[in-house]
Amino acid sequence: MPELPDVEVFRRYLDATALHQTIAGLDASDDRLVAGETPRALAEYLRGHHFERSYRHGKHLFAALETGRWLEWHFGMTGYFAYHKDQEEVPEEGHVRFLLENGAQLLFLDQRKLGHVAALDDLDAYLAELGLGIDALDPELDEATFRSLAEGRRGQVKCWLMDQSTMAGIGNVYSDEILFHAGIHPRQPLEALTDEGLDRLHRHLRSVLEAAIEAGVDPEKMPSDFLVPLREEREADCPRCGEALTKIKACGRRARVCPRCQPGPD
Ligand SMILES: [Zn+2]
Repeated sequence: MPELPDVEVFRRYLDATALHQTIAGLDASDDRLVAGETPRALAEYLRGHHFERSYRHGKHLFAALETGRWLEWHFGMTGYFAYHKDQEEVPEEGHVRFLLENGAQLLFLDQRKLGHVAALDDLDAYLAELGLGIDALDPELDEATFRSLAEGRRGQVKCWLMDQSTMAGIGNVYSDEILFHAGIHPRQPLEALTDEGLDRLHRHLRSVLEAAIEAGVDPEKMPSDFLVPLREEREADCPRCGEALTKIKACGRRARVCPRCQPGPD
C-alpha cells in the first residue's frame, strides 16, 4: 500500500504534469473508480476547470480546483498516475482518465480497482473526519513534538509509528526501514525508549522518508544500506553488518530485522 514517500512522489508527478492544465473531460473504465457520484457527473463538474494546487497529508493526496472544490485520489494497493502527451492510448481496465485541453491525458491507473477518485466540498472537515495526526514530514514535527507524541503511550514502537492518528504517513514498509536505521527492534516497547532513542528515531524517520522521496521511491535508486530493495527476496543479509536478516511478526505484520543491528527486547 502506498505510504508517505510513494504518495509524495505521486504529488510531485501531478504537479509536474497536469497542474494548471484545463480539464476537457473525464472517463472511467468502471463506475466504482469514482466515489460519491457518477463519472459523468464528475466530468460535467470538472470540464473547463483546472487543478490549482496539490496537497498531501500522510498517505492522502488532494488537489484543489480553482473553484474551491477538492479531488482526492485513493491509491488502494496498486494505484498510480501516468501522463501521456496524447490521448491515443487507453488502457482497458482500471483507469480514470483526465482528458486535458492541451491534448494530453492524466491517467489514474489501478488494475485491482481498490482505489478511487472522489470530489470533496470541504477538505478541512474531511481531514477532521479521518482523524489524522501530524504529517510525518511536517516541519513542525520537531524533536520536542515527537517526544510529546510518545508521552504516556505504551506498546510496540512499530505500532506507534504506524498509528495514523498519532503521525500520518508511515506504514509497514517504512516503519521497518526507519527502525532498522535507528537500530531499534520493532517490538521494543515504546515506553522503554529513552529520550536519546526517541531523538534517534525522529532523526531517522525524517532521513529515511526524505531519501526514499529523493530516489523517486525506486528501490534501485535508494541508498545502498536500505532494506526496501531486499523486501521481495526470500533471504537477505543486512546491508550494514552482513548478518542474515530475520523475519518476525510485529504489530500484526511481517517485519524484517537485523538481529545484530536491532537487538530484540526479549
Ligand atoms: Zn545488521
